[in-house]
Amino acid sequence: MNIIITGGAGFIGSHLCEFLLNKGDNIICVDNLGSGDRKNIKEFEEKENFVFIEFDITKTLEEFEKILENKGFVGENKINQIYHLASRASPNDYQEFPVETALSNSLGLNNMIKLSMKHNAVILFSSTSEAYGQPKVHPQPETYWGNVNPVGIRSCYDESKRFGEALLMAYHRKFNAKVKIIRIFNTYGPKMRKDDGRVIPNFIQQALNNNEITIYGNGEQTRSFCYVTDLVEGIVKMMNSAEIGPKNLGNPREMTILECAQKVIDAADSNSKLIFNSLPEDDPTKRQPDISSARQFLDWEPKIEFEEGIKKTIEWFKEN
Ligand code: UDP
Repeated sequence: MNIIITGGAGFIGSHLCEFLLNKGDNIICVDNLGSGDRKNIKEFEEKENFVFIEFDITKTLEEFEKILENKGFVGENKINQIYHLASRASPNDYQEFPVETALSNSLGLNNMIKLSMKHNAVILFSSTSEAYGQPKVHPQPETYWGNVNPVGIRSCYDESKRFGEALLMAYHRKFNAKVKIIRIFNTYGPKMRKDDGRVIPNFIQQALNNNEITIYGNGEQTRSFCYVTDLVEGIVKMMNSAEIGPKNLGNPREMTILECAQKVIDAADSNSKLIFNSLPEDDPTKRQPDISSARQFLDWEPKIEFEEGIKKTIEWFKEN
């Protein structure tokens, strides 16, 4: 199959490239390297079933189609599947680039939906647990509509993902576009950007250097962390299922940020102490996926325990 992955040089995107390359698919990896990194795909670039296109998908579709033609994908029905992952995803990143983030999940997505329809391809959109905002239902099932601040500092991300979901359903209802929506919960693993400001890279780096571990707020807020290869398996199962979604993908094991810090300290064999900083605005107090639907309809659930995944991630941080 010929498969486009937007955001393919990013953290999750590059793991998805690897998984599909190993399956023997032809991968067209598209990334503007805003938060992605060419290092993440270095090992794939010599493969003949891998093409990298440096492009900002919020530019015109015509421009992108010209590039595709130059790469040999001429005419219609050449692309089978599109995974639209292109978006900044760390709160620090998307708050620094709010307009780019909002447009990638709306204008960029619109371009990719139109492209998918020309090729009669399936498009899968990576939405987010942030669609639930500050949740009043716990854990969060897909049927919960969420509690999002539409003008808050996270809204460039949350609301553009929510708009993206609405846009896909509009094309699906009106034109029968083949769409799929996943809501990704916190994910971690090798190839996370060290300076992306998220909790796992921060804690690992602090622990490895025996620096203070920065807890935001009192650390009683919770997250549920999924190891990246587990997530990628779920994404691919969703793409090849009959499901439209939205479908929660994440690891339901919930922990407080304090527990998370202690686990990282233990796994890194570190002497780091905790320091308490202020809690960022609109930081959700809890988050845990209800994955009954993914279990039932995709026959998917995560397998890698946090203690194992964090060890592998720490190893990667040490070596890179
Ligand atoms: N966090 C923290 N210390 C850090 C970075 C993050 O305590 O150095 C907290 C943050 O306030 C949030 C949680 O960890 O409650 C997860 O933050 P992250 O930025 O990884 O992603 P989010 O789930 O908020 O999108």
